Amino acid sequence: MGNKRDYYEVLGVSKDASKEEIKKAYRKLAMKYHPDKNPGDKAAEEKFKEAAEAYEVLSNDEKREKYDRFGFNAPGGGQDFQGFSDINDIFSHFSDIFGGGGGRGGSIFDDIFGGGHSSSGRRAATGTPGSDLKVTLKLTLEEIANGTTKKIKLKKYKTCSACGGTGAKNANAFQTCPVCHGSGEVRQVSKSMFGQFVNITTCSRCGGTGKIITDPCNVCNGEGRVRVEETIKINVPAGVSDGNYMTLRGQGNAGKNGGPAGDIIVIFKELPHEYFTRNGDDVIYDLTISFPEAVLGTEVQIPTLTGRAKLKIEAGIQPGKLLKMRHKGIQHLNRHGAGDQLVRINIYVPKKITSKEKELLKELQNQPNIKVPQ
Ligand SMILES: [Zn+2]
Ligand SMILES: [Zn+2]
Repeated sequence: MGNKRDYYEVLGVSKDASKEEIKKAYRKLAMKYHPDKNPGDKAAEEKFKEAAEAYEVLSNDEKREKYDRFGFNAPGGGQDFQGFSDINDIFSHFSDIFGGGGGRGGSIFDDIFGGGHSSSGRRAATGTPGSDLKVTLKLTLEEIANGTTKKIKLKKYKTCSACGGTGAKNANAFQTCPVCHGSGEVRQVSKSMFGQFVNITTCSRCGGTGKIITDPCNVCNGEGRVRVEETIKINVPAGVSDGNYMTLRGQGNAGKNGGPAGDIIVIFKELPHEYFTRNGDDVIYDLTISFPEAVLGTEVQIPTLTGRAKLKIEAGIQPGKLLKMRHKGIQHLNRHGAGDQLVRINIYVPKKITSKEKELLKELQNQPNIKVPQ
């Protein structure tokens, strides 16, 4: 991630560009480098992703402010933007730009060229696509530090095994669709400022199958899918941040009548920790020691993300000092190495003392090295 281009440079806008300017600049780039327009062109795909990432950050007030202040290395969640691993993520993420539809076929070109442009994405050959499922996955700092595998139970639509998703009782329980006469498509000719376009849409009567069911499957009542409870396994990479998400492609709800399945979108939620505060990939631990311990030095046992560790406190340590335990923090996301555990030194000041302690302290406070130097 070291050689990223500046987001403003990527979009070709000035640092004080308005939201509208940023959106406009992004649309322009998205059209130019759209994968449908540049099939198989890796460089264009990279540009497309780069622009999407820049737009993701600069279109969000909070992220933009953070980026303006800290660049790519923001503290306290510098990793709050993960980048897009997949083109389809971009479509589903910016549905306002790409015209909704969760990325399935809906594309920016539909607005401009008046539809009929079939996306290279996941347009269903038959049936109605299934919807996406969103799940929130709660994670402890320990789980985030080294990555983990979690299992979650969820209810979702699965392809009906009795009919193989067709929705029909058997292979003969169909008749040819009277609307599209078996083609599964309906053609419409439309005119736009770019000329005449043939707009092909999926037949709504048969859902693109070209056939209609005469005798429905009695397990799924002709829907081709059934509701089940399923346990799914999620491999959580180390170093994720609160709000990061992961897309499990094709694992969402099964479509109707053989339509493609939606995705499962797993959103990570970081649970507060008993001892640690997170700062990027570092964790901060507040250690309180007594005044004599601070002066004389000591050795303490402190918690870490993987257990406990001994820590030597040098004589004369100052309150507020941060001791660094190298690589005891959170593993970096998508790159090698880990953050540190930082131990912040606090000095305990008692509020209630005995008369004996009072006497000793009074004697002590007049000693030459105990007084605050003038
Ligand atoms: Zn069935
Ligand atoms: Zn039809």
